Amino acid sequence: MVSVRLPPDNHTHTEHSWDAENGSMEASCVRAIEIGLPSIAFTEHVDLTPWAVPGDPEASFGRFARHVHDGVMHVPEIDVDAYFDEIERCRSLFPDLRIFSGLEIGEPHWFPEKTAELLASGPFERVLGSLHSLQIGDAPRLLDEWFYTDRVRGEEEMNAVRAYLAESIELVESSADFEVFAHIDYLTRQINRAGRAHDPRQFEEEYRATLRALASSGRVLELNTRLGLDPMIVRWWHEAGGAAVSFGSDAHEGALVGSGFAEAAAMAEAAGFHRQADPIDYWRRSTR
Ligand SMILES: [Zn+2]
Ligand SMILES: [Zn+2]
Repeated sequence: MVSVRLPPDNHTHTEHSWDAENGSMEASCVRAIEIGLPSIAFTEHVDLTPWAVPGDPEASFGRFARHVHDGVMHVPEIDVDAYFDEIERCRSLFPDLRIFSGLEIGEPHWFPEKTAELLASGPFERVLGSLHSLQIGDAPRLLDEWFYTDRVRGEEEMNAVRAYLAESIELVESSADFEVFAHIDYLTRQINRAGRAHDPRQFEEEYRATLRALASSGRVLELNTRLGLDPMIVRWWHEAGGAAVSFGSDAHEGALVGSGFAEAAAMAEAAGFHRQADPIDYWRRSTR
């Protein structure tokens, strides 16, 4: 049975996300209950950026190449009605689990009107703002794809990290309507996937600038457990005056819901962010 009280999982995907064919809202609920999560949020992808695909779509996007037309990838939009039908079905199946609706919006600051329209189309409770893309040359690229296809490394990689953190400031300082800044370590995933390590200390000034902007915005920093955030970044977040952290597994299938949460919770505690009386709340800095 459950031995530790885990934080809420505020970042998961189901079959309603374009890249989560193995997702299942029902299976994710079963898993959340099994491991004793107080709540789960289904934050489906909204990726509005038209990604440039300069080369072979198959080589760049594999099974998703079907969404590439004339050198541009447009992913399918979420079916909001079908999504909320499934949310309601799961809420009645699992009345003891708190189920949050939500969205993970990529680059919402580039699409203010469309983002506002989407958010007005349903009662979305947990909204994440993400940066999945950067302007590379004269066109936006999906960073996973660009890193892999163009074999980004060396100086170009260093510049990409700086550009990512700089664009993150634009995102968090924008008026886009989101509460949690997702995966600040998104680019670290790509660097690790290429077999290299990323040391945030090499970019301390840039990280601190992004975290200060995030703290001033009043938004929440996500501890994404796909990799496990470097504890140094969480300490810098506390020093920047950050008010709260959110935990997100970024699971694209039920089995991965809440993975790495015990470690992430311990790290948050060590950095000065604590569980609140209401178990579904974000973890907040102590006022003691
Ligand atoms: Zn993401
Ligand atoms: Zn995600």
